[in-house]
Amino acid sequence: MAANPLQGIKSIKDLAIENKRVFLRVDFNVPLDKNNPSVITDDSRIREAIPTIKHALERGARVILASHLGRPKPGKTAGLGMEPCGARLAELMSIEVHVPEDCIGDAPKKVIGDLRAGQVCLLENLRFHEEEEKDDADFAQKLASLAQDGVYVDDAFGAVHRAHASVHAIAKLFPERGCGFLLEKEIAALGKLVLGADKPYVAVLGGAKVSDKIAVIEALLGQVDALVIGGAMANTFLAAKGVRVQASRVEEDKLALARTLLEKAAEKKVEILLPVDVVVAPDLESTEGKTVRVSEIPEGTMALDIGPDTVAAFARRFATAKTIFWNGPMGMFEKKAFAGGSFGVAQAMADSNAFTVVGGGDSAAAVHAAGGDIAKKMGHISTGGGASLELIEGKKLPGIEVLRT
Ligand code: ADP
Ligand code: MG
Repeated sequence: MAANPLQGIKSIKDLAIENKRVFLRVDFNVPLDKNNPSVITDDSRIREAIPTIKHALERGARVILASHLGRPKPGKTAGLGMEPCGARLAELMSIEVHVPEDCIGDAPKKVIGDLRAGQVCLLENLRFHEEEEKDDADFAQKLASLAQDGVYVDDAFGAVHRAHASVHAIAKLFPERGCGFLLEKEIAALGKLVLGADKPYVAVLGGAKVSDKIAVIEALLGQVDALVIGGAMANTFLAAKGVRVQASRVEEDKLALARTLLEKAAEKKVEILLPVDVVVAPDLESTEGKTVRVSEIPEGTMALDIGPDTVAAFARRFATAKTIFWNGPMGMFEKKAFAGGSFGVAQAMADSNAFTVVGGGDSAAAVHAAGGDIAKKMGHISTGGGASLELIEGKKLPGIEVLRT
């Protein structure tokens, strides 16, 4: 039996929160409209926190929500206040959400003291205090004092890889602590891959650069039966094997590393699948492509997607897999002409009988863009970029470890 990644971590289901104060760390770090920062362009992160908030409210808890938003510079708070998030949450849940003018001190104390049943307090942006990112003990104490004798619940998966005050230092100040539903789901799904994925285990990697993913590739080589490589990353591997990829994006300084990784894979008997055909175009501005064998990429063109034969080969490998993890799009999927590879891989994963997990911001976006019921058919789509990759690498994440009691 594989170890349980949630060992020692209480779920909010098992915490005595009835009529208590609950300090709930959420990830409301939503994308904002560049021209009008009071407009939230994608509210998924707010929606994903609702089951946990609802659970707490239904048990009469007084809920104190806390989040960071963006990267405010010291003393510059304009456009990064939590008010728009509070307004959206109020709308989505049909509840009253009060946003005090600060996250510590008298302003939140007053708001929390006045809270009535069914109302919540959303603290002002934690990063307005630079102590947040310093994991400052005193700042953590001030936050914790808002939920005196209460319970700490973390549901901010996107932030657990950072040792910041609201996800790390604060947790130890609450004997009663645990995870919300979203964090629980993330740890269970990604933790299962690391601690005991059912085999054969196939990992699919793509995306912009090899250099972004070196640690993940190295970690996966010790875990998987096959590594499927697409996206711009594949160009560097193809070039390392002597394929003339012409104008394709290649990380020249990573060619030696790519060779070493291929040798390591051979030693560990990890099967490597690279593209056999690609969709090429003259440049990144192109809106039309042409499918060619990788050995016949025309001079002056670059590979912007994997081709249909490659998708078919990848799909054949998926058919016998019991676990599939995907990170990194297979091509420049933001353009229709170069989306076929990513959508094809998404479809093949959805059709397989394996436990399927998708991690990474752009990969998750590709799965949603693929449409139909593809997203629904995935075992798990992770909401965290950095956090999901660090978990896959087998790292211990500060915001998760501190929850164990
Ligand atoms: P994730 O966010 O899922 O971890 P990455 O950020 O690593 O993924 O990579 C996503 C980006 O890689 C996308 O913007 C996509 O357009 C780009 N990309 C993938 N393949 C290619 C390619 N062959 N040429 C150029 N860009 C590519
Ligand atoms: Mg990305």
